[in-house]
Amino acid sequence: MAMKDREIEKLIKAEEVRQKKSINLIASENYVSKDVLTALGSVLTNKYAEGYPGRRYYKGNAIVDEVENLCVERAFKLFKLDPKDWHVNTQALSGSPANLSVYLGLLEKGDKVMGMSLDHGGHLTHGHKVSITGKFWTQVPYGVSKVTEMLDYEEIRAIAKREQPKMIIAGYTAYPRVVDWKKMREIADEVNAYLMVDMSHVAGLVAGLAYPAPFPYADIVTTTTHKTLRGPRGALIFTRKDSRELDKKIDKAVFPGLQGGPHMNQTAAIAVALKEALSADFKKYAKQTIKNAQVLAKELMALGWRVVSNGTDSHLILVDVASQGLDGKDASDKLENAGIIVNKNGIPFDTRPPVNPSGIRLGTAGETTRGKEEKDMVLLAKKIDKALRA
Ligand SMILES: *Cc1c(COP(=O)(O)O)cnc(C)c1O
Repeated sequence: MAMKDREIEKLIKAEEVRQKKSINLIASENYVSKDVLTALGSVLTNKYAEGYPGRRYYKGNAIVDEVENLCVERAFKLFKLDPKDWHVNTQALSGSPANLSVYLGLLEKGDKVMGMSLDHGGHLTHGHKVSITGKFWTQVPYGVSKVTEMLDYEEIRAIAKREQPKMIIAGYTAYPRVVDWKKMREIADEVNAYLMVDMSHVAGLVAGLAYPAPFPYADIVTTTTHKTLRGPRGALIFTRKDSRELDKKIDKAVFPGLQGGPHMNQTAAIAVALKEALSADFKKYAKQTIKNAQVLAKELMALGWRVVSNGTDSHLILVDVASQGLDGKDASDKLENAGIIVNKNGIPFDTRPPVNPSGIRLGTAGETTRGKEEKDMVLLAKKIDKALRA
């Protein structure tokens, strides 16, 4: 890559070096393939394609129609969905606009949405007050049990019955455990609410058959494509096809409701990532990612660190550093000094403020892409322990 713009070229190269040199435990990051980067950096970025395949507003879209159709086809194949029963929209520019499209398409302003509160592991777009989803709609928060630090379905049922939300959101941003999608469906049915699953964090694990799929139970499944799924930044919105026509409502919310032209280079790159995720290697990757997280959690616990919910079923670990007299900001600074990149994170029932919470969040998706295995996790736990106690 030789660019005429030396300033930006220099920064790209510097970032490449930073990425190569550091151990990356940011749970929402990953490393894409050369093919994904090639698709992202292609001439497809030049094309305006407002509308959907076969129904575009501008001319010259025959080829990008094929790109989007291929992306759709691969999304169905990867998640084993029958296009008779499911629809997928590939155009939302990222996870947050994808979620907003669901709200805009299916809810009236002010409707109640039941989502996990941020401090228990929910995403901002699940109705937090600083997000548009909490300003235009009303969040009914739920959380985890104080004792197990896991979902308490009886409590969730009681809140749903009391509050009668229009939509329940399951799928989280800092919850390490398996979710019982079937129980969430039963609760949604009891109060006649939509069940939306936001599988952004675990999509790659679902694709690799290493984590339960929400599709048999959800009305809508949203996901980012850049976390465990290892694609470019982007999102997919899957909608169950039936007489309620949720698919049409959500398509309209994405375009023209919220966006103009889709980013066709991004759609192509998503298609590439979906094909990669169909490989046998990717299934191994998904299983290894979870194994690595489980070993890392176990080793950290053996070294005296309190891990929220005592372990993980996914790529993600929450460590309560306050239990050892540290705070999340200090801990993440100390790790960065040792070349390990993490984020500070709240823990359930955190008594410290979000700007400096009690925990750190670790994820193994990126390092597993780089070939790390169980034995590396044992060493990594020691390195983390040493850095934190320095
Ligand atoms: C990452 C994430 C999002 C938002 O994705 P962006 O692409 O950053 O907007 C939404 N929901 C969940 C659960 C996430 O983890």
